[in-house]
Amino acid sequence: MSEQNDQEAEVVLYEVRGAIALVTMNRPEYHNAQNSRMTYALDAAFRRACDDDEVKVIVLRGAGKHFSAGHDIGTPGRDVNQSFERSSLWYDHVNKPGGEFLYAREQEVYLGMCRRWREMPKPTIAMVQGACIAGGLMLAWVCDLIVASEDSYYADPVVRMGIPGVEYFAHVHELNPRIAKEFLFLGERMPAERAYQMGMLNRVVPRERLEEECLAIAGRIAQMPRLGLQLTKQAVNNAEDLMGKRATMDMVFGLHHFAHVHNELTSGDKLGGYDAKAMASSQRKAAEA
Ligand code: ZN
Repeated sequence: MSEQNDQEAEVVLYEVRGAIALVTMNRPEYHNAQNSRMTYALDAAFRRACDDDEVKVIVLRGAGKHFSAGHDIGTPGRDVNQSFERSSLWYDHVNKPGGEFLYAREQEVYLGMCRRWREMPKPTIAMVQGACIAGGLMLAWVCDLIVASEDSYYADPVVRMGIPGVEYFAHVHELNPRIAKEFLFLGERMPAERAYQMGMLNRVVPRERLEEECLAIAGRIAQMPRLGLQLTKQAVNNAEDLMGKRATMDMVFGLHHFAHVHNELTSGDKLGGYDAKAMASSQRKAAEA
């Protein structure tokens, strides 16, 4: 698909089936790499689902072969330098100097939005196939349940950029700390089966049954009372925060931005000189070593 088409296409699709809202990332030609256009469209779709009294459960999925290859660090639709109408009270990042540029942007489009989505007052299920990499993990992790296909895989390779993991640092809550270190230090793909054993995934099913299984679970949840579901979600989320999830994320967000600024000072690039292609080829070389 050409750049022109990508700019015109709906980057997020929205559909309601009975009591279930299906929110679909729709940049399959870029493995659903998330640009700001997509995160704002996701935010709008989630708001629509939360506002609709008929919707009881929200399913997040990705069109095509992969759930999400992460944040957009190199497609023609990369829009890191563009302003959008913000969903939080953070000021616009675009005209800000030094470390303030990315700090303001990531407070809004990554940490801020992910936290907002985690706190949606309705149950959410991520339906994951293929790659779920870096920023893709953030979207799966903010959901209450993750239903995945056997061929799905998970990785956070951003330590290669000198950065301690993606902006939504839930690694030590999704995995036990020693496994989280392995996951980050190596940056390698964790197959669905291992992620399931670690408790990161709720179900692993064959690819051809993924949608059916995911919607069946969503349908059963939808039979529960709305307020009961919301209060239960709040109970578990609050318990996680009391275990340090929110405070850990705030602390690591500071380290993350120290790394961005250090990269810029030493290499002139906030990502340490890596774009999507350079990341993929260094991953390949490491795997061959
Ligand atoms: Zn960042």
